[in-house]
Amino acid sequence: MRAMTLAGTGQPLVMADLPMPVPGEHDVLVKVLACGVCRTDLHIIDGDLPRKTSAVVPGHEVVGRVVATGALATRFRIGERVGIPWLGGTCGHCAFCVDHRENLCDTPVFTGYDRNGGFAEYAVADERYCFALPARYDDVHAAPLLCAGLIGYRAYRLSGVSGAMRLGLYGFGAAAHIIGQIAVAQGQQVYAFVRPGDGQGQHFALKLGACWAGASDTRPEAELDAALIFASVGALVPAALRATRKGGVVVCAGIHMSDIPSFEYALLWGERSVRSVANLTREDGEAFFSMIDRHPVTTHVQPFELARANEAIAALRSGVIEGAAVLVP
Ligand SMILES: [Zn+2]
Ligand SMILES: [Zn+2]
Repeated sequence: MRAMTLAGTGQPLVMADLPMPVPGEHDVLVKVLACGVCRTDLHIIDGDLPRKTSAVVPGHEVVGRVVATGALATRFRIGERVGIPWLGGTCGHCAFCVDHRENLCDTPVFTGYDRNGGFAEYAVADERYCFALPARYDDVHAAPLLCAGLIGYRAYRLSGVSGAMRLGLYGFGAAAHIIGQIAVAQGQQVYAFVRPGDGQGQHFALKLGACWAGASDTRPEAELDAALIFASVGALVPAALRATRKGGVVVCAGIHMSDIPSFEYALLWGERSVRSVANLTREDGEAFFSMIDRHPVTTHVQPFELARANEAIAALRSGVIEGAAVLVP
């Protein structure tokens, strides 16, 4: 099968002919229909995250059709469409797994990092960590739900916003454009913060229902009740704290961020909190898919052929993608 592989840190992905993956006991083998490109893939390629294997196939927003199953895999039938997310496996017995916090498992398996992901024609995944996908989304539009959607949802849930609150979204990319629609549908006022000078990003956010959109180094007049930071820029932490009211929460949703500059204690004072969100649990996934069943979202995607993965990555890096980049084998 053809796959885009990462041979060395910081290098472009290379098309390779790999042997067809063989499903393990609990695995499904899927023909990849679409796979989203996530900022985490950029962090893996750039070496911001420690390298785990000598050559990996990235991609953890995988929409695939089951073509074979392992001996103990009975959850999905041949021909069924499944979603493969970032969380590809957990130990099931560490303190975190036992405490329903499998997102923090001590020995997790991540798709497209610890095991090969979806920048390929075929992929295998442990079926116990896969999701059934709602039929209303076609393959390309379903892909960004699997990380941008899920992680965005976890960040949103942990921010504690409810009812008619003011929610700030820093970095209006794949995750924010999904969770922003859910927040608007739930009655929140969404404030979108984009890179200074990104007029197109502001326009995109307003089109999706944000009540305010502006540069991340500016502030709306009203104070935010909570802020979610999706951009990997540490300087946004004090910026978001400055825009957030007493008692409010700032959630850092990315897996990697540049260093956070020091800031005056007064920004944190007043019982403001800063927290991160790591990975996802399967419960988050089920809750997210049931939420978008009640509040359907429109995902905006830019498809690229698999062989053009490096172009998709460059486009994501430069911020020109409106919504999400998705690879189609
Ligand atoms: Zn565990
Ligand atoms: Zn991701």
